[in-house]
Amino acid sequence: MTTIPVMRPWLGDEEAEAAAQAVRSGWIAQGARVRAFEQAFAERVGAAEAVAVSSCTAALHLSLLLSGVGPGDEVVVPSLSFIATANVVRHTGAEPVFADVDPETGNLTAKTVETVLGPRTRAVLAVHQAGVPTDVEELRRLCDPLAVPVLEDAACAVGSVLRGRAVGAGALMAAWSFHPRKLLTTGEGGMLTTDDAAWAARARRLREHGMDVSAADRHDSRSLVLERYLEVGFNYRMTDVQAAIGLVQLAKLDAMVSRRRVLAARYRDLLREVPGLHMVDDPPHGRTNYQSFWVVLPDDFPAARDDVLRAMLEAGISCRRGIMAAHLEPPYAGRVAELPVTERLTAQSLVLPVFHTMTEDEQGRVAAVVLALAR
Ligand SMILES: *Cc1c(COP(=O)(O)O)cnc(C)c1O
Repeated sequence: MTTIPVMRPWLGDEEAEAAAQAVRSGWIAQGARVRAFEQAFAERVGAAEAVAVSSCTAALHLSLLLSGVGPGDEVVVPSLSFIATANVVRHTGAEPVFADVDPETGNLTAKTVETVLGPRTRAVLAVHQAGVPTDVEELRRLCDPLAVPVLEDAACAVGSVLRGRAVGAGALMAAWSFHPRKLLTTGEGGMLTTDDAAWAARARRLREHGMDVSAADRHDSRSLVLERYLEVGFNYRMTDVQAAIGLVQLAKLDAMVSRRRVLAARYRDLLREVPGLHMVDDPPHGRTNYQSFWVVLPDDFPAARDDVLRAMLEAGISCRRGIMAAHLEPPYAGRVAELPVTERLTAQSLVLPVFHTMTEDEQGRVAAVVLALAR
């Protein structure tokens, strides 16, 4: 019996060849390929500017710094997210304040955010969780009058759609991940997108030690360039090897999303008979890329969530618990009021395998485990 992974990146000879070309060119650090990937990515998500970085975590950190978040500030985030969403707030010296989420989408709403806004709120960091678009327009109607910027953790959401436009279009700032657990991968990597040229320029400087000229530009210059270091920056650079892979992956994005939507529809068909099973779906305001296919077991499901995971493991299927909740982990424990929806979703949900090359047979094997336990 072969093992079914929870995710397998869709990589092929084209990516291998692109990476090899970067290596053969002799320039493997941040250079022309990074620039080309930034331009192609910005165009794809409908942003004026894209700044490639080493991870989404780095992009999130920069977006908070550019918004002026620092010690003494609070940033509203969902607890129901990968822990990086909360960690980046701490990286700036500010404190994350957790808001609950909508049970259908797993995302923040104006209602859940409103209850935790306070005089120290400096930003709201909305997550398009597992690719399901957050209704950012609704959050902006709440936050704009208070001059609180709404930033976007779009780690999972490349190819998702909000009100007919790509997630990222019109975003103040959005942070993206190219980790292999997401759709489009460069091994590790991230991107910060924005329409604001000044923010983008400062992000470019901060990712490269605060230098006022990039190493690539200095190399290309025919005259003497003596760089200055204008502020304390970071090494958040992406390499040209990663960007070469990213360019190939970006051209495959539409195919990735359509394949996932086919797989998701098929899961829905296969699992329709399980009474009370909630399956992730498009929200009324947009379309998900199905980065993850998560399901929530009903309270009266005959097996506990972890027993379902164990049964999957025995059947050679790699599943994951559903989305984690940061407030239940040691760095953030004991600081929270009530997050009933978050706690129910994290306890009762699981992520079923979806990946581009998944076969009908493999999907059948996954569904069979759930169906057998439901009886
Ligand atoms: C994966 C993920 C991140 C972190 O992305 P990296 O590129 O690994 O830093 C942040 N937020 C969310 C919601 C994620 O799913």
